[in-house]
Amino acid sequence: MALFSKKDKYIRINPNRSVRQKPQAKPEVPDELFSKCPGCKHIIYQKDLGSEQICPHCSYTFRISAQERLALTVDSDSFVEMFTGIETQDPLNFPGYQKKLATMREKTGLDEAVLTGTASIKGQKVALGIMDSNFIMASMGTVVGEKITRLFEYAMVENLPVVLFTASGGARMQEGIMSLMQMAKISAAVQRHSKTGLFYLTILTDPTTGGVTASFAMEGDIILAEPQSLVGFAGRRVIENTVRETLPDDFQKAEFLLEHGFVDAIVKRRELPETIAKLVRLHGGSRG
Ligand SMILES: [Zn+2]
Repeated sequence: MALFSKKDKYIRINPNRSVRQKPQAKPEVPDELFSKCPGCKHIIYQKDLGSEQICPHCSYTFRISAQERLALTVDSDSFVEMFTGIETQDPLNFPGYQKKLATMREKTGLDEAVLTGTASIKGQKVALGIMDSNFIMASMGTVVGEKITRLFEYAMVENLPVVLFTASGGARMQEGIMSLMQMAKISAAVQRHSKTGLFYLTILTDPTTGGVTASFAMEGDIILAEPQSLVGFAGRRVIENTVRETLPDDFQKAEFLLEHGFVDAIVKRRELPETIAKLVRLHGGSRG
């Protein structure tokens, strides 16, 4: 009798089944497939940004690497890289600095935060520099200073105009005062180049700040900027705390700078090669 009697009068739920089951891990989506637009906050399928990396919703211009910039700007196969292999000094023996540099070189494929050489843009031969914010925020250390200085010196010898895409978080703190000295060093080279009557064009890209803004970025004969680029010296919060005022929303944006006379024109990314070539041509092109 006891063999067939039902002990429990309620349904038992197997705790290992269905609802109690551990939720399955979320499907993994690789980060590089989607980007969030800093301009309009839309999530965008990476491919929709196109090679120019422009948001289809609000036209925000995404930050791009030096190699991507090169591909969008110069005539194919015209770029000749120069001034590579300059060894970065570590004057302060800053902990972890050499390791960081090695990691950055690996990650970006660049030897330092600026790519330098000669190229033609729509048929105009120029000395070209492109800073890349992926490399320690394109901070200005001794090698960046040396490469840009040599670019100007080479341009003087070869009678070339200089076209420089700037992007930077400022001075490279790992190199202390040596980093700040690059401002004066490059500015002197810019002046020597200018005195020979050669043309210097800067294109400010997002972000151009600190010592770079305070020196060669703002020394161009003509200064262009990409839309919505952040351009400034000190950070917004530092200024607000110093002057004890709330700054306008678009403060330090390229459009604000244009309105206040710091920038000559804002040029869309896809129109840059044509505009650069036109300006170089108008100013005598290369005289080599
Ligand atoms: Zn957008």
